[in-house]
Amino acid sequence: AAWALRLPFLSRHDIATRQHHRPWQRLVLPFRDEDQRISHFLSVCAAPLLSCAQPSDPPQRRVTAPTAISPTAISPAALSPSAASPSEARARTQKLAWAKTGPQAVHSADELAAMPTASTHLAALEAITESAPIGVAVVSPQGTVLNCNRRLAAVLGTSGAGLHAGGMHQHFEQPAQLSQLLARVAGGESVVREDMLLRTSSEKAVWGAVSMSPIRFENAPAALLWLFDITRLKRVESELSDLANYDALTGLYNRRALLERGVRALNKAREAAKHVCVLMIDIDHFKSVNDDFGHGVGDEALRHIAHMMGDELRGADVMGRMGGEEFAVVLPATRLSAALDVAERLRMQVASRPVSTDTGPLPLTVSVGVASVLGREADLTAALNRADQALYQAKADGRNCVRAGG
Ligand code: GH3
Ligand code: MG
Ligand code: MG
Repeated sequence: AAWALRLPFLSRHDIATRQHHRPWQRLVLPFRDEDQRISHFLSVCAAPLLSCAQPSDPPQRRVTAPTAISPTAISPAALSPSAASPSEARARTQKLAWAKTGPQAVHSADELAAMPTASTHLAALEAITESAPIGVAVVSPQGTVLNCNRRLAAVLGTSGAGLHAGGMHQHFEQPAQLSQLLARVAGGESVVREDMLLRTSSEKAVWGAVSMSPIRFENAPAALLWLFDITRLKRVESELSDLANYDALTGLYNRRALLERGVRALNKAREAAKHVCVLMIDIDHFKSVNDDFGHGVGDEALRHIAHMMGDELRGADVMGRMGGEEFAVVLPATRLSAALDVAERLRMQVASRPVSTDTGPLPLTVSVGVASVLGREADLTAALNRADQALYQAKADGRNCVRAGG
């Protein structure tokens, strides 16, 4: 069913979706701000509605539906008219209540004025907290859980009782992080969305965005903690980062990531007044490997050579696949003479360890060009170009050899 829902307390925000699932399920609806950008997601979860008040309304004009509104009462027809004014919104709320319980469920203004509202407000607050898609807890300055909702217990793979008994620290991968947050809150600070690695009761890793603010609970200072489970988001973030930085075939840095990390290594070496050299490496006659043995063997050969050369390098060296069968290495804190030695070692390693294929060992060789980063060269491109020229010379000199550039 296509319908638009406008909530009275969100009178300035039009809900942009026309989608309607089952009304008693949780709905996540994008809604628009005044500039018509979809800027937030509103999570609407049907729950027993105990009190519906307009904050600006005088108390006697409050509309209260004391019983739960069943799923069937929330029909698209009941929700579809756009509420242009608070009175229309109230009329619609009355209509909703009547749909289930009849007109006797809505109290007259006099009845409402005489009615105590604190307990209904508390119950409404509890209903809201319990159905929130976010974990909520009141935590003592020492990390004891004084109160929490079901969602928090579910995210942490435990029960409310388990949380009360064990406290919050046990669920932080680094318990000191929680202590630091609690200390900040005790100092009057509010903590907004800090990503923390957590552990469920069964030792499963969970990423949570944690927010905290100071409150008073039962006459003592405490922290109100909100925990949003971002495990899936973190996983996608990490997958995207891998896709953006690593070559899928060899697992080496791709060209962009190599240049980025290479520049970082260059700056660090420069601070320490060290030399930096670069290598450009190209597999010899690689086209014939594909032609003679097929692309599968070609791919395997690329992986084999990449790993073999990677094993020969130090942890601080940065190696990447520039594309095709070309690799580059940044060697921080290395003079040209030492870089030539490294290049020679890589060349010999490849030449002495053929790739195994179904039809027997396949000997391969590489040619290498070496260049040092000159003076205060800001990026690596110029040095890599000089190494590329030297590589060209190595190819011209018969391949399977190392040449140095300017
Ligand atoms: P040279 O000694 O002059 O470098 O000769 P070459 O045959 O290695 O040079 P060329 O640039 O002509 O060929 C490179 C070949 O690398 C062409 C392409 O088919 C192959 N190649 C590039 N990327 C991949 C890959 O990801 N997998 C496989 N199997 N082959 C690739
Ligand atoms: Mg080649
Ligand atoms: Mg090439």
